Amino acid sequence: MTQMTGRCMCGDTTYKTSGEASAAHACHCDDCQRFTGTAFVGVDFEALDISGPIKWFTSSEWGERGSCSACGSDMFWRMRDGSGPQVVSIGSLDEAVSIAAIDKHYFADNIPPAFNFTGEAVRMSREETLTHFESLINV
Ligand SMILES: [Zn+2]
Ligand SMILES: [Zn+2]
Repeated sequence: MTQMTGRCMCGDTTYKTSGEASAAHACHCDDCQRFTGTAFVGVDFEALDISGPIKWFTSSEWGERGSCSACGSDMFWRMRDGSGPQVVSIGSLDEAVSIAAIDKHYFADNIPPAFNFTGEAVRMSREETLTHFESLINV
């Protein structure tokens, strides 16, 4: 999968990726559960072409979230310092059906039993997830 396109619910904001998409993951941290509904795929933001009224919200010490300021759809997450993962929400992709599987779960000990995820995806605990992200921060 080389290029993907996506849009928010109202259509005011669209985007286009270039380069290879990286691991699709589900994040079960409190913020993601409340804000997005959970799942994302990694993209290269330097090559991400966003068009529309995106509002960035600083959601943690390291991260910020981008949503369409017209309709509020959550679409993006990135590290504030530009290092590490940059992701788009799978639900905003025009071809969301092209994402075959979740490769990784962050904050896996927080997965609601009702989601009933199956498969071989890596499951990182809250502690493992935090250690992983702290190791990515540019010091
Ligand atoms: Zn919108
Ligand atoms: Zn999260």
